[in-house]
Amino acid sequence: MKLEFFGAAGEVTGSCHILHVGGKRVLLDCGLIQGSREDEARNHDPFPFDAAAIDAVVLSHAHLDHCGRLPLLVKRGFRGPIHAQRASCELVAILLADAARLEERDAEYLTRKLGRNIKPLYTFEDGRRVVEQLKPRRYGQPFEVAPGVTVTFRDAGHIIGSCSVELRCEENGITRHVLFSGDLGQYDSPILRDPDPVPHADVVLMESTYGGRRHRDRSDTIEEMGRIIAGAEKGNILIPAFAIGRSQEVLYHMGKHFDEWGLGRFRIFLDSPMAIEATEVYRRFHDLYDEEATRLHDRNETMPLLPNLHLTGNTEESMAINRIRSGAIVIAGSGMCNGGRIVHHLRHNLPHESTQVIILGYQARGSLGRRLVDGQERVRIFGRDVPVKAKVHTLGGLSAHGDQDDLARWYERVGGQAPVWLVHGEDEAREDFAAYLAKRSGARVSIPGPGEVLDLA
Ligand SMILES: [Zn+2]
Repeated sequence: MKLEFFGAAGEVTGSCHILHVGGKRVLLDCGLIQGSREDEARNHDPFPFDAAAIDAVVLSHAHLDHCGRLPLLVKRGFRGPIHAQRASCELVAILLADAARLEERDAEYLTRKLGRNIKPLYTFEDGRRVVEQLKPRRYGQPFEVAPGVTVTFRDAGHIIGSCSVELRCEENGITRHVLFSGDLGQYDSPILRDPDPVPHADVVLMESTYGGRRHRDRSDTIEEMGRIIAGAEKGNILIPAFAIGRSQEVLYHMGKHFDEWGLGRFRIFLDSPMAIEATEVYRRFHDLYDEEATRLHDRNETMPLLPNLHLTGNTEESMAINRIRSGAIVIAGSGMCNGGRIVHHLRHNLPHESTQVIILGYQARGSLGRRLVDGQERVRIFGRDVPVKAKVHTLGGLSAHGDQDDLARWYERVGGQAPVWLVHGEDEAREDFAAYLAKRSGARVSIPGPGEVLDLA
């Protein structure tokens, strides 16, 4: 019985670990590496294991850095079940279809540009096969993923359908409870419930994306977003946002504070086909909402309404937004400005002083979003030098990730004072959080490197 750490040991993206029990191999997540072009090139590398020899996959949630290499796993021979919470299953289908389309389009473009055949990382067909292998599961209901391995999903409060994964492992009469935190949300965040307490664990694998810091208070962030919007006199407001999670939260706050923020004078665009589809999934799975969102839902039979919200599904409508000089609020992906429609909007709007960019989430090293947060005066977009005259606001508090206090609070509700292995964090964040958790909660904390093996027996 052992656990092997692969992706996201020492970085924030590319989550992937293997659990070995009784000769079976269970993969926890199969995430895409995201960030700089050099980092992302590693997605094409062979897996450090044989894809065909994996017996089952357990997926924590539907973000690309956790599920984005699943089509590649299937393409390379994996034929087993992929267990995921039922809302996650729907989101994964949307996410992978979109990712595959982008891959195919980029490969076509590069083939034309370079005059040699460039293959996409995976195709739409590979993504479709992942969806066929998905097994929808519910929170709190145990299921067997391999002989000797039973899984229970717990709500992680990060995006809809997000899970912490409890694994009960049995081999030669020895039982071990392994708990994989997945990405943990903040306590008291809107729409979603708080992370579910877990009764017992012998070993805890924990994310530590924001383990090195405290988020500012969420209500301060929402107030500041309100001030920026209410105080905008001219120009456009750009909000890069993950299609899944952040976009729905931004819409939720806008609906709740519609009059207060003077939103009636804007044209609001949700400029992302994926975010539009994900918003539908959020609406369908209202049984997973927290109390306040449930109350709002019961009153409106939907999330708060925005009468001036335009859902821009097609490219022509999206390009038309670039002709608007003032009075538009554009919510578009990708959240780290690495690709997607937001990049076009940034190219058109960054050179204007009247533009405001609201950055709400984590920006990985090497991403365009990180360069904006770092205050670079010029950035390269589509091979062109673009001056940054826009005002860039970095608002930390709306993160879908818990900060060090949330993470420690979650750990303290896990029965058993289990030793902790920190994954999914840049090295500095992991070291800071290791020290913090040891001091605050008395936990024994380790920081594994990629390829490191933890013996569980
Ligand atoms: Zn996530």
